[in-house]
Amino acid sequence: MTDVSQMKIDTTRSFDVHQTETSRLDQVDFSNLDFGRVFSDHMFVMDFEEGRWQRGAIEPYGPFTMSPASMVFHYGQAIFEGMKAYRSKDGSVSLFRPGKNIERFNISARRMCMPEVPEDIFMEALAALVDIDQAWVPDGDEASLYIRPFMIATDSFVGVRSSDKYTFSIFTCPVDAYYKGAVRVKVERHYTRATPGGTGFAKAAGNYAGSLYPSQLARQEGYDQLLWTDASTHEFIEESGTMNAMFVINGKLVSPETSDTILNGVTRDSVITLANDLGIEVEIRKISVTELENGLRTGAVSEAFGVGTAATIKSIDLIGVDGTDYPLNTMPAELGSSVAMQLSHALDAIRRGKADDTHGWSIPV
Ligand SMILES: *Cc1c(COP(=O)(O)O)cnc(C)c1O
Repeated sequence: MTDVSQMKIDTTRSFDVHQTETSRLDQVDFSNLDFGRVFSDHMFVMDFEEGRWQRGAIEPYGPFTMSPASMVFHYGQAIFEGMKAYRSKDGSVSLFRPGKNIERFNISARRMCMPEVPEDIFMEALAALVDIDQAWVPDGDEASLYIRPFMIATDSFVGVRSSDKYTFSIFTCPVDAYYKGAVRVKVERHYTRATPGGTGFAKAAGNYAGSLYPSQLARQEGYDQLLWTDASTHEFIEESGTMNAMFVINGKLVSPETSDTILNGVTRDSVITLANDLGIEVEIRKISVTELENGLRTGAVSEAFGVGTAATIKSIDLIGVDGTDYPLNTMPAELGSSVAMQLSHALDAIRRGKADDTHGWSIPV
């Protein structure tokens, strides 16, 4: 682990660094990390005012002071990203395809009428923040440092328009292996996560708010998550909870195309590329609920899973369609050779420096 007190501060940076004098590192039980509840020592904060980004700073992690009239509380201009830093066996720390998250953050910003964050400042802040809190990157086989960049509207104004002021911030959380068990999902035939022309492709906070109630109803029926369908016909599969949906149908990896209602996941893109590398046939196409249901009956659908940064690959062991539950075999014995497991291992090997990074995805900090 890095000795934080030995770190040098680069004064040539485009932001300030105010290092904490009281690290909380020794208060953390790394063998018992509660996902998303432990926060590293520092955060990055940068404000947008008077039409431009002001000088940002890395500061001790702590609360924001905000006016109750801050526009984010009323009209919901809020976007975020989720990415991870991984520790390799040799102790070094790398970010996984950070450029993809930065690019997507600015796509989200444009859709929500928020200012884009200059890519170079974003990248520099990200690297510096992970670097200053290097000691917080856990070294367990499945542990990592979860990174949460976000932006909120901060103008104090109770009138409907886009805000003139924003805060962009990044904080990080050491996290352990995500719960690995399979999930039971219900095909959602009534509620909608995203509509054509809407904000489904953006990582906007409001998309999540709107999905909570239908998800709660599904949980009351004994499911863990929803398999979202398209807004107009509810006949085509879109996403799995807050992950991209993938199926193995007749041995081929099948996933719907991204669109303005399907978020362009970095994990999805990486998994598809790795499937091609591994010689697994990939089909990017629509999957109807009818095809899914028939395939579950005949066994043509052998695997189903969600893919995303938090859990990487989340196996689905039951799909509910209009009141009928179809189990899927995710028994550990078969899992070793499952497409999901092969892809998960291939991805993890790159993230942790155990395999050749032929695509240049790992960016050392
Ligand atoms: C974040 C997210 C994903 C997964 O994206 P990754 O870049 O792989 O983490 C998928 N769907 C939705 C709706 C998301 O918000």
